[in-house]
Order: sequence, then structure tokens, then C-alpha cells
Amino acid sequence: MSTDSRLYSVVFNKCPRCHQGNFFVSNSAFSKNFDKMHEHCPHCGENFMPEPGFYWASMFVSYAFYTIYTLLTFFIVVQWLQIDVNYYLIGLMPTLILLTPYFFRMARRTWLTLFIAPKPQHKTEMPTQG
Ligand SMILES: [Zn+2]
Repeated sequence: MSTDSRLYSVVFNKCPRCHQGNFFVSNSAFSKNFDKMHEHCPHCGENFMPEPGFYWASMFVSYAFYTIYTLLTFFIVVQWLQIDVNYYLIGLMPTLILLTPYFFRMARRTWLTLFIAPKPQHKTEMPTQG
């Protein structure tokens, strides 16, 4: 995957602007502080909190991820592998719960990436306070 693409920053927890600094503090979606974000990019200083309540709409992105996952696994498990739909539904619930932190992080990165154009060669200094 090209490091210049928007998908790179979404998948690999990187800043949507410079693709260097981390978006979330932790690189793992399954750590204690999976939801802790940097307020600014540690590399280029891009603001990750454009306005209060900015990430409310990422819930809809998260919903889209759940829907895509559910449809995809349904067609693989029930249609292709011919496994009973009741077993599929029993297995679906725990996987959706386990994937919640992963989809949460992916949704936030996707939502911010929609509004920030990537500039991977962007080499700016951290903004100075004052
Ligand atoms: Zn950055």
C-alpha cells in the first residue's frame, strides 16, 4: 500500500496530513487506552480536534463498518460455506463486541481523513505557543 494514500493513514494509525505521526496514543486497538487520541499530530502539528463534537458523525462511519462486516461474513459463512444461520448469529455477536474498539478507531481516522488532504512530504515545524 502506498504511504501517500488516504487509506494508509486510516489503516496504520497515522496522521491524515503527514502520514508520520500517530493518530492514537496506543498503536493497539486492544489496549487499556485504546481511545486516547493526540490533540495534535506529534510530527506536523495537524489539529486532530477541529471543533467540539467533530467525532459524533464518526458513529455513522462505525455503523457502516459494522454493516459491511456483517454482510461480508454472512455471505462467506452462510452462503458460501453453507453453515446454519443460527450458528452464524451465535458467532456474530462476540466478534462484533470484540471488534468494537477496532471499528471505533477506524471510524475516527476515516472521518478525519475525509476532511484533511494528505501531504506526505509536508515538513512543517510544530506550531509554537504564544
Ligand atoms: Zn502529521
